[in-house]
Amino acid sequence: MTTVSLGMPRLPAAGVPDVRLPADRPATGGLLDRFGRVATDLRVSLTDRCNLRCTYCMPAEGLPTLPKDSVMTREEIVRLVGIATSELGVRQVRFTGGEPLLRRDLVEIVAECAALPHRPELSLTTNAVGLDSRAAALREAGLDRVNISLDTLDPDTFATLARRPFLARTLAGIDAAAREFDLVKINAVLVRGVNLDHAAELLSWCLERGFELRFIEQMPLDADHAWDRAAMVTAAEVREQLGTRFALEPDEEPRDGAPAERFVVRDLDGAPHGRRRGRVGIIASVTEPFCDDCRRTRLTAEGGVRDCLFAHTETDLLGPLRAGADDAVLADLWRGAMWAKQAGHGMSDSGSGTDLDSSGFTQPERTMSAIGG
Ligand code: SAM
Repeated sequence: MTTVSLGMPRLPAAGVPDVRLPADRPATGGLLDRFGRVATDLRVSLTDRCNLRCTYCMPAEGLPTLPKDSVMTREEIVRLVGIATSELGVRQVRFTGGEPLLRRDLVEIVAECAALPHRPELSLTTNAVGLDSRAAALREAGLDRVNISLDTLDPDTFATLARRPFLARTLAGIDAAAREFDLVKINAVLVRGVNLDHAAELLSWCLERGFELRFIEQMPLDADHAWDRAAMVTAAEVREQLGTRFALEPDEEPRDGAPAERFVVRDLDGAPHGRRRGRVGIIASVTEPFCDDCRRTRLTAEGGVRDCLFAHTETDLLGPLRAGADDAVLADLWRGAMWAKQAGHGMSDSGSGTDLDSSGFTQPERTMSAIGG
């Protein structure tokens, strides 16, 4: 629903915030911030619930779940994605969570977003538990890509990290994704003393299947607040670890705002490894942040806009939407939220490495599972 302005001042309805424009913020256009970045990549969290309890994300006992009526419905999600794509220039939408496969209406959400007039590229981040029975329907509904989280191929280590013995279910989901989608990306988090020395084996397995593996540095977004700068596995260590088995060369292709630094992978004797020209990505959010090139905006499962994973504030869109705000008002609230984005996430100081104490960084209240990773 788009409202055409008649040139008359619009009075906010009860419950709809009155958007007051800062003098220097453009009233129309995309999701621009004060540092000239434009967000075109939207992450939508479909639920805060998850069927795993990964140690670096959730506590063993889980987190209190959101009341059902505070989570966006399918219609609300599709309406906000529609505003993002038709009014705000968003081109890519990734569904995440929590675990998005726990939404029974996931296929319908994908289908309705794929039918929007400004169809975005649609992708899903998932642990793949249960994907085996839904991958075909998701592709038919219009899903373009999947990223699957897999930290190890060892069942015991999987059960230690995810606190659930579900490796076989995840692998079944990956097989189904490989049948249905052209490109499967795998995300892995390495934890010292647990799966760091599984990195090269995981890469070999991915290359042999034509999957693109990306290692993500562990970020301080865990519920237990156990993240420790000194203990986390850095991107430099990942490169070193992979270097024991592979030769990595920086990829010549432009990074183009992507968070992962990519490398072409060969065996140590220079021969290609695997089915395709193999690549690996390393996402160094902590030690080599890429905030200058960030193009991301996020919606939590409760319909709050977050301009950064590490933000301490959110802008509620769901309350105003339910109170009757029109598309123009919601778009402007979203623009205002992104305008306030900070220059960086605050974890690194002066490019000399990362020092949480000296930068005054404080961990956000919400965990990765509650924000939507
Ligand atoms: N449940 C889905 C999944 O497992 O992919 C989607 C949500 S999960 C929060 C998204 C991604 O965030 C996963 O790849 C997970 O490994 C990653 N993640 C969670 N906590 C993290 C942390 N503290 N640091 C880095 N990555 C994290």
